[in-house]
Amino acid sequence: MRQTTCILLGVPVQDGTGRLGCDMGPSAYRAAGIGPALQSLGHTVIDRGNLVPAPRRDLTHANPALHGLPEIVAWTEALSQTVYETGAQGLTIVLGGDHSLAAGTLAGHARRASEDGRKLFVLWLDAHPDLHTLETTESGHLHGVPMGYALGLPGFAGTFPPLAAALDPSRVCMMGLRSVDAAERRILAGSGVHVHDMRAIDENGVGVLLRRFLDIVEAQDGILHVSLDVDFLDPDIAPGVGTTVPGGATFREAHLIMEMLHDSGRVASLDLVELNPFLDDRGRTARLMVDLTASLMGRSVLDRPTRSY
Ligand code: MG
Ligand code: MG
Repeated sequence: MRQTTCILLGVPVQDGTGRLGCDMGPSAYRAAGIGPALQSLGHTVIDRGNLVPAPRRDLTHANPALHGLPEIVAWTEALSQTVYETGAQGLTIVLGGDHSLAAGTLAGHARRASEDGRKLFVLWLDAHPDLHTLETTESGHLHGVPMGYALGLPGFAGTFPPLAAALDPSRVCMMGLRSVDAAERRILAGSGVHVHDMRAIDENGVGVLLRRFLDIVEAQDGILHVSLDVDFLDPDIAPGVGTTVPGGATFREAHLIMEMLHDSGRVASLDLVELNPFLDDRGRTARLMVDLTASLMGRSVLDRPTRSY
Protein backbone atom coordinates (compact mmCIF):
# COMPACT_ATOMS: atom_id res chain seq x y z
CA MET A 1 0.00 0.00 0.00
CA ARG A 2 1.17 3.53 -0.74
CA GLN A 3 2.05 5.39 2.43
CA THR A 4 1.13 9.02 2.47
CA THR A 5 1.56 12.01 4.70
CA CYS A 6 -1.99 13.12 5.53
CA ILE A 7 -2.44 16.66 6.79
CA LEU A 8 -5.65 17.18 8.74
CA LEU A 9 -6.94 20.74 8.84
CA GLY A 10 -10.09 21.66 10.76
CA VAL A 11 -12.14 24.45 9.21
CA PRO A 12 -15.00 25.20 11.61
CA VAL A 13 -16.92 27.53 9.33
CA GLN A 14 -20.71 27.65 9.57
CA ASP A 15 -21.47 31.13 8.24
CA GLY A 16 -22.18 29.68 4.79
CA THR A 17 -25.30 27.86 5.91
CA GLY A 18 -28.54 28.83 7.58
CA ARG A 19 -28.24 26.31 10.44
CA LEU A 20 -25.81 26.38 13.30
CA GLY A 21 -23.71 23.33 14.15
CA CYS A 22 -21.21 22.80 11.32
CA ASP A 23 -18.55 24.51 13.44
CA MET A 24 -18.52 21.31 15.54
CA GLY A 25 -17.61 19.22 12.48
CA PRO A 26 -13.82 19.11 13.00
CA SER A 27 -14.26 17.94 16.61
CA ALA A 28 -16.70 15.24 15.53
CA TYR A 29 -14.26 13.84 12.93
CA ARG A 30 -11.52 13.74 15.54
CA ALA A 31 -13.86 12.10 18.10
CA ALA A 32 -14.84 9.55 15.44
CA GLY A 33 -11.18 8.62 15.13
CA ILE A 34 -10.07 9.98 11.78
CA GLY A 35 -6.42 10.26 12.83
CA PRO A 36 -6.06 6.73 14.23
CA ALA A 37 -8.01 5.31 11.26
CA LEU A 38 -5.45 6.77 8.85
CA GLN A 39 -2.50 5.76 11.05
CA SER A 40 -3.78 2.18 11.19
CA LEU A 41 -3.46 2.11 7.39
CA GLY A 42 0.21 3.00 7.65
CA HIS A 43 -0.08 6.69 6.84
CA THR A 44 1.67 9.51 8.66
CA VAL A 45 -0.89 11.92 10.12
CA ILE A 46 -0.17 15.54 10.92
CA ASP A 47 -3.08 17.33 12.57
CA ARG A 48 -2.66 21.06 12.01
CA GLY A 49 -5.52 21.88 14.38
CA ASN A 50 -8.22 24.31 13.36
CA LEU A 51 -7.76 27.18 10.93
CA VAL A 52 -8.42 30.74 12.02
CA PRO A 53 -10.00 33.06 9.45
CA ALA A 54 -8.21 36.13 8.10
CA PRO A 55 -9.18 39.50 9.59
CA ARG A 56 -12.73 40.35 8.68
CA ARG A 57 -13.28 43.33 6.42
CA ASP A 58 -16.52 45.25 6.00
CA LEU A 59 -17.97 44.13 2.69
CA THR A 60 -21.32 44.86 1.16
CA HIS A 61 -23.00 43.62 -1.99
CA ALA A 62 -25.95 44.66 -4.12
CA ASN A 63 -27.75 41.36 -3.44
CA PRO A 64 -29.52 41.98 -0.10
CA ALA A 65 -30.11 38.24 0.40
CA LEU A 66 -26.43 37.45 1.03
CA HIS A 67 -25.58 36.18 4.52
CA GLY A 68 -22.13 36.24 6.10
CA LEU A 69 -20.21 37.69 3.16
CA PRO A 70 -17.37 39.25 5.22
CA GLU A 71 -16.99 36.04 7.26
CA ILE A 72 -16.85 33.73 4.23
CA VAL A 73 -14.38 35.97 2.41
CA ALA A 74 -12.17 35.94 5.53
CA TRP A 75 -12.26 32.12 5.68
CA THR A 76 -11.60 31.88 1.94
CA GLU A 77 -8.51 34.09 2.18
CA ALA A 78 -6.99 32.08 5.02
CA LEU A 79 -7.91 28.66 3.65
CA SER A 80 -6.78 29.25 0.11
CA GLN A 81 -3.31 30.30 1.32
CA THR A 82 -3.10 27.42 3.84
CA VAL A 83 -4.00 24.58 1.45
CA TYR A 84 -1.68 26.10 -1.15
CA GLU A 85 1.10 25.57 1.42
CA THR A 86 0.00 22.18 2.81
CA GLY A 87 -0.49 20.88 -0.73
CA ALA A 88 3.28 20.83 -1.06
CA GLN A 89 3.66 18.81 2.14
CA GLY A 90 1.13 16.01 1.77
CA LEU A 91 -2.45 15.00 1.09
CA THR A 92 -4.57 17.70 2.73
CA ILE A 93 -7.80 16.51 4.33
CA VAL A 94 -10.04 19.41 5.35
CA LEU A 95 -12.45 18.67 8.19
CA GLY A 96 -15.35 21.06 7.66
CA GLY A 97 -17.24 23.11 8.17
CA ASP A 98 -19.91 23.95 5.61
CA HIS A 99 -19.30 23.75 1.86
CA SER A 100 -18.46 27.45 1.52
CA LEU A 101 -14.96 26.34 2.51
CA ALA A 102 -14.55 24.87 -0.98
CA ALA A 103 -14.06 28.42 -2.26
CA GLY A 104 -10.77 28.43 -0.35
CA THR A 105 -9.68 24.86 -1.02
CA LEU A 106 -10.45 24.91 -4.75
CA ALA A 107 -8.68 28.25 -5.18
CA GLY A 108 -5.64 27.15 -3.18
CA HIS A 109 -5.29 23.73 -4.80
CA ALA A 110 -5.77 25.24 -8.27
CA ARG A 111 -2.97 27.72 -7.59
CA ARG A 112 -0.67 24.94 -6.35
CA ALA A 113 -1.46 22.72 -9.36
CA SER A 114 -0.90 25.52 -11.84
CA GLU A 115 2.47 26.42 -10.31
CA ASP A 116 3.47 22.75 -10.34
CA GLY A 117 2.38 22.40 -13.98
CA ARG A 118 -0.24 19.77 -13.07
CA LYS A 119 -3.81 19.52 -14.31
CA LEU A 120 -6.26 19.69 -11.41
CA PHE A 121 -9.48 17.67 -11.69
CA VAL A 122 -12.34 17.84 -9.18
CA LEU A 123 -14.79 15.13 -8.21
CA TRP A 124 -17.77 16.86 -6.59
CA LEU A 125 -19.94 14.44 -4.59
CA ASP A 126 -23.00 16.41 -3.56
CA ALA A 127 -26.77 16.61 -3.92
CA HIS A 128 -26.17 20.20 -5.06
CA PRO A 129 -23.82 21.78 -7.62
CA ASP A 130 -23.17 24.85 -5.40
CA LEU A 131 -22.76 26.76 -8.62
CA HIS A 132 -24.52 30.01 -7.83
CA THR A 133 -22.96 33.43 -8.20
CA LEU A 134 -23.39 36.23 -5.69
CA GLU A 135 -26.10 37.57 -8.00
CA THR A 136 -28.05 34.37 -8.66
CA THR A 137 -28.35 32.98 -5.13
CA GLU A 138 -31.82 33.54 -3.70
CA SER A 139 -31.23 31.89 -0.31
CA GLY A 140 -28.10 34.02 0.08
CA HIS A 141 -26.28 31.18 1.87
CA LEU A 142 -22.74 31.13 0.58
CA HIS A 143 -22.28 27.35 0.76
CA GLY A 144 -24.17 27.54 -2.54
CA VAL A 145 -21.50 29.50 -4.45
CA PRO A 146 -18.01 27.94 -4.07
CA MET A 147 -18.02 26.09 -7.39
CA GLY A 148 -19.23 29.22 -9.16
CA TYR A 149 -16.32 31.16 -7.66
CA ALA A 150 -13.69 28.50 -8.41
CA LEU A 151 -14.80 28.20 -12.04
CA GLY A 152 -14.30 31.94 -12.41
CA LEU A 153 -17.94 32.88 -13.00
CA PRO A 154 -18.48 36.65 -13.06
CA GLY A 155 -19.46 38.76 -10.06
CA PHE A 156 -16.98 37.64 -7.40
CA ALA A 157 -14.36 40.30 -8.15
CA GLY A 158 -14.11 43.01 -5.52
CA THR A 159 -15.34 40.77 -2.70
CA PHE A 160 -13.75 37.30 -2.93
CA PRO A 161 -9.96 37.11 -3.39
CA PRO A 162 -8.79 37.10 -7.02
CA LEU A 163 -8.17 33.58 -8.41
CA ALA A 164 -4.57 32.70 -9.28
CA ALA A 165 -6.02 29.93 -11.48
CA ALA A 166 -9.64 29.12 -12.27
CA LEU A 167 -10.86 25.53 -12.59
CA ASP A 168 -11.42 24.20 -16.08
CA PRO A 169 -15.08 23.04 -16.18
CA SER A 170 -14.17 20.10 -18.42
CA ARG A 171 -12.05 18.81 -15.53
CA VAL A 172 -14.95 18.86 -13.03
CA CYS A 173 -17.25 15.87 -12.48
CA MET A 174 -20.36 16.18 -10.32
CA MET A 175 -22.00 13.02 -9.05
CA GLY A 176 -25.16 12.58 -6.99
CA LEU A 177 -26.98 15.78 -7.99
CA ARG A 178 -30.67 15.81 -7.14
CA SER A 179 -31.42 19.38 -6.07
CA VAL A 180 -30.51 21.92 -8.73
CA ASP A 181 -31.99 25.44 -8.94
CA ALA A 182 -33.10 26.94 -12.26
CA ALA A 183 -30.18 29.39 -12.29
CA GLU A 184 -27.70 26.59 -11.65
CA ARG A 185 -29.29 24.49 -14.40
CA ARG A 186 -28.76 27.37 -16.83
CA ILE A 187 -25.12 27.72 -15.78
CA LEU A 188 -24.50 23.96 -15.99
CA ALA A 189 -26.00 23.61 -19.46
CA GLY A 190 -23.19 23.89 -21.94
CA SER A 191 -20.62 24.57 -19.21
CA GLY A 192 -18.62 21.46 -20.03
CA VAL A 193 -18.90 20.13 -16.46
CA HIS A 194 -19.41 16.33 -16.38
CA VAL A 195 -22.75 15.89 -14.61
CA HIS A 196 -24.09 12.58 -13.31
CA ASP A 197 -27.30 13.05 -11.39
CA MET A 198 -28.89 10.31 -9.27
CA ARG A 199 -30.84 9.02 -12.26
CA ALA A 200 -27.61 8.51 -14.20
CA ILE A 201 -26.23 6.63 -11.20
CA ASP A 202 -29.36 4.44 -11.05
CA GLU A 203 -29.19 3.67 -14.76
CA ASN A 204 -25.46 3.10 -15.13
CA GLY A 205 -24.04 2.42 -11.69
CA VAL A 206 -21.43 4.60 -10.01
CA GLY A 207 -18.59 2.33 -11.10
CA VAL A 208 -19.13 2.88 -14.81
CA LEU A 209 -19.55 6.65 -14.47
CA LEU A 210 -16.54 7.11 -12.22
CA ARG A 211 -14.36 4.88 -14.43
CA ARG A 212 -15.13 7.17 -17.36
CA PHE A 213 -13.97 10.24 -15.45
CA LEU A 214 -10.89 8.54 -13.99
CA ASP A 215 -9.89 7.48 -17.52
CA ILE A 216 -9.87 11.18 -18.48
CA VAL A 217 -7.84 12.11 -15.39
CA GLU A 218 -5.32 9.37 -16.14
CA ALA A 219 -5.10 10.18 -19.84
CA GLN A 220 -4.12 13.75 -18.95
CA ASP A 221 -1.87 12.71 -16.05
CA GLY A 222 -4.02 14.83 -13.74
CA ILE A 223 -4.33 15.09 -9.98
CA LEU A 224 -7.70 14.90 -8.30
CA HIS A 225 -9.38 16.87 -5.54
CA VAL A 226 -12.42 15.21 -3.96
CA SER A 227 -15.16 17.29 -2.34
CA LEU A 228 -17.49 15.09 -0.29
CA ASP A 229 -20.67 16.77 0.94
CA VAL A 230 -22.52 14.70 3.56
CA ASP A 231 -25.75 15.21 1.60
CA PHE A 232 -24.30 13.17 -1.28
CA LEU A 233 -25.23 10.23 0.94
CA ASP A 234 -28.77 9.09 1.54
CA PRO A 235 -30.20 10.70 4.71
CA ASP A 236 -31.08 7.22 6.02
CA ILE A 237 -27.39 6.46 6.47
CA ALA A 238 -26.13 10.04 6.98
CA PRO A 239 -28.64 12.11 8.95
CA GLY A 240 -26.12 14.62 10.33
CA VAL A 241 -26.54 17.37 7.75
CA GLY A 242 -28.73 20.45 7.44
CA THR A 243 -29.65 19.94 3.79
CA THR A 244 -31.03 16.41 3.60
CA VAL A 245 -32.38 15.42 0.18
CA PRO A 246 -33.98 11.96 -0.16
CA GLY A 247 -32.64 9.50 -2.70
CA GLY A 248 -28.91 9.83 -2.13
CA ALA A 249 -26.01 7.45 -2.58
CA THR A 250 -26.06 4.17 -0.68
CA PHE A 251 -23.41 2.83 1.67
CA ARG A 252 -21.95 0.55 -0.99
CA GLU A 253 -22.10 3.14 -3.79
CA ALA A 254 -20.15 5.58 -1.63
CA HIS A 255 -17.58 2.99 -0.57
CA LEU A 256 -17.12 1.76 -4.13
CA ILE A 257 -16.33 5.32 -5.21
CA MET A 258 -13.75 5.64 -2.45
CA GLU A 259 -12.17 2.26 -3.23
CA MET A 260 -11.89 3.11 -6.94
CA LEU A 261 -10.39 6.49 -6.07
CA HIS A 262 -7.80 4.77 -3.92
CA ASP A 263 -6.92 2.35 -6.70
CA SER A 264 -6.49 5.26 -9.11
CA GLY A 265 -3.71 6.76 -7.00
CA ARG A 266 -4.72 10.19 -8.31
CA VAL A 267 -6.27 11.81 -5.22
CA ALA A 268 -4.18 14.71 -3.91
CA SER A 269 -6.67 16.35 -1.53
CA LEU A 270 -10.03 15.79 0.13
CA ASP A 271 -12.68 18.00 1.71
CA LEU A 272 -15.24 16.57 4.13
CA VAL A 273 -18.04 19.11 4.36
CA GLU A 274 -21.49 19.90 5.75
CA LEU A 275 -21.36 17.50 8.70
CA ASN A 276 -23.61 18.97 11.40
CA PRO A 277 -22.98 17.01 14.62
CA PHE A 278 -25.93 18.78 16.29
CA LEU A 279 -28.24 16.95 13.85
CA ASP A 280 -26.36 13.64 13.91
CA ASP A 281 -27.49 10.42 15.52
CA ARG A 282 -24.86 9.56 18.18
CA GLY A 283 -21.97 10.22 15.83
CA ARG A 284 -23.20 7.86 13.15
CA THR A 285 -22.65 10.25 10.24
CA ALA A 286 -19.22 11.31 11.51
CA ARG A 287 -18.17 7.65 11.75
CA LEU A 288 -19.45 6.93 8.24
CA MET A 289 -17.49 9.86 6.83
CA VAL A 290 -14.37 8.60 8.63
CA ASP A 291 -14.95 5.09 7.24
CA LEU A 292 -15.31 6.51 3.73
CA THR A 293 -12.07 8.44 4.19
CA ALA A 294 -10.38 5.22 5.30
CA SER A 295 -11.65 3.48 2.14
CA LEU A 296 -10.25 6.32 0.06
CA MET A 297 -6.93 5.88 1.82
CA GLY A 298 -6.69 2.15 1.30
CA ARG A 299 -8.92 0.25 3.70
CA SER A 300 -10.41 -2.66 1.77
CA VAL A 301 -13.74 -4.40 2.18
CA LEU A 302 -11.93 -7.33 3.76
CA ASP A 303 -10.59 -5.34 6.68
CA ARG A 304 -13.72 -3.43 7.61
CA PRO A 305 -14.53 -3.95 11.30
CA THR A 306 -17.83 -5.43 12.46
CA ARG A 307 -19.64 -2.79 14.46
CA SER A 308 -23.01 -2.49 16.14
CA TYR A 309 -24.84 0.83 16.11
MG1 MG B 1 -22.51 21.24 -1.13
MG1 MG C 1 -25.17 19.69 -0.74
